[in-house]
Amino acid sequence: MKVLLLGGTAEARALAAVLVADGDDVTTSLAGRVADPRLPVGAVRVGGFGGVAGLRDHASDYDVVVDATHPFAARITGNAVQACTERPLVRLQRPGWSGDHVWVDSHEDAAEQAGALGRRPFLTVGRQELGRFEPLLGDRRALVRTVEPTEVPPAWTLLLSRGPYRLDGELALMREHRVDVLVTKDSGGEHTAPKLDAAARLSVPVVVVRRPRLPEGLTVVETVDAARAWVRAH
Ligand code: NAP
Repeated sequence: MKVLLLGGTAEARALAAVLVADGDDVTTSLAGRVADPRLPVGAVRVGGFGGVAGLRDHASDYDVVVDATHPFAARITGNAVQACTERPLVRLQRPGWSGDHVWVDSHEDAAEQAGALGRRPFLTVGRQELGRFEPLLGDRRALVRTVEPTEVPPAWTLLLSRGPYRLDGELALMREHRVDVLVTKDSGGEHTAPKLDAAARLSVPVVVVRRPRLPEGLTVVETVDAARAWVRAH
């Protein structure tokens, strides 16, 4: 099988590994946002396709397409649905988190809630969303964690790192910076979940941005094994 795997996640790398082991011809596509990405096994291409038409054109060289991009990468998922009208497409998306948090529908709402709940927020929403927190939280002593460097307001402390994280490290970090509210999006998965446990231990409230809704009619699986079974079934 020739598989086009839209990637940029740990699940996509895990799926590439099992499909290559099955003998599939797998090409993982990365957006190119990260300078030094973790690379999967199999072939890799980097960069946007040029919208729906470009992706449709590109996908025509493959038997199936697996969209294993991040739960918040909504544009590429929407493009994949529109581009794959004549080609089997499945979405691999890890389950979301649950819990007794403050759940909101947008980053702007998250900024508002965080501003009301604490003075020293810990923003773990990704580099691309940080600008949406600046109007309300730009003068707070925020701790901000991103993978790639980015400009932040002078009051913010920028920490560059990439998961997975561990509970002891997250506890130490949140204590050191006297974090009093944690802001995250519902990425799900294990790699970044220890911050939620650390917040619970420290009685720090957590504001969680809900995931964007998936397009209607899209076939969705939640595990690498299920995605592999879907590929085998085709
Ligand atoms: P997005 O907003 O959904 O997509 C914006 C544009 O980037 C797309 O229209 C497409 O450009 C290009 N693109 C996105 N993913 C691509 C891929 N895998 N291969 C080729 N082109 C891709 O995406 P995003 O939120 O910026 O995320 C970009 C990448 O980072 C994704 O692969 C995602 O899995 C990964 N990632 C995202 C997050 C997050 O929080 N958003 C977190 C971790 C990893 P064209 O229209 O030109 O094709």
